[in-house]
Amino acid sequence: MTQIKKIIKLNQNQIERFSRQILINEIGNNGQIKFMNIPVIIIGCGGLGTTVATYLSMLGVRNLGLADDDKVSLSNLNRQTLFNEKDINDSKVKVIRKKLKLINSEMNLKIYDKKITTDNIENIIKNYEIVLDCTDNFKSRYLINDACFKNKKILISAALHSFEIQLFCFKAWENTSNPCYRCIFPESDLTENIGNCDSFGIISSVAGLGGLFQSLCVVKAILKKDQRMYNEFLMYDCLNLNQKKISYQKNPNCSICKVV
Ligand SMILES: [Zn+2]
Repeated sequence: MTQIKKIIKLNQNQIERFSRQILINEIGNNGQIKFMNIPVIIIGCGGLGTTVATYLSMLGVRNLGLADDDKVSLSNLNRQTLFNEKDINDSKVKVIRKKLKLINSEMNLKIYDKKITTDNIENIIKNYEIVLDCTDNFKSRYLINDACFKNKKILISAALHSFEIQLFCFKAWENTSNPCYRCIFPESDLTENIGNCDSFGIISSVAGLGGLFQSLCVVKAILKKDQRMYNEFLMYDCLNLNQKKISYQKNPNCSICKVV
């Protein structure tokens, strides 16, 4: 991805557009400039990915990658916010690129209309600092986890299960305590039998909230707030509005991130 020129100072138009968030102490001009310069990629453009894409474009993220090989289908329209009936059978990433440009014409959007594999993932993520895993299956989650660890990318991952959202932020390469996805969920035969939203079912508000949590983690990662998020994962029960945070350490026997 050829990135657009880094911003070192906001122009008048940008100051006005982002004035409500620049007012926040933790953000200010400097935080806004960071949002605009850090390259982020979304892998999986479904219920999570379309929400994340929308909110990051509004936040001011300009260098954004989108990876998904799917086409829009009728059953996507109950939760995937950037699509409508006219988009059915069109490439998801192309539709999203068109719609995000309407939100922020300054965006530099790079699309990857292909399935991620062990052969292409490193090349796809190499120019980004933050990777959002918005996929819906274990195979992709392991693949993205392993590539992010190896290439020192911040990984923000969410999973949806009916009314439950699971949210994870990984930076396992940074120190000897942060876990990776495999430390929490070691690969086993069990995972082969666990389904995705095609088999569990999902509604728009749960998918959207999952994507909002992920967008918020991008903000925190860029501003370097809440470093604990790399050591604990959030389980949010949307039916009862309960949340549980579970702390994790690196698994000394992890096949990917163990300290040797
Ligand atoms: Zn690990």
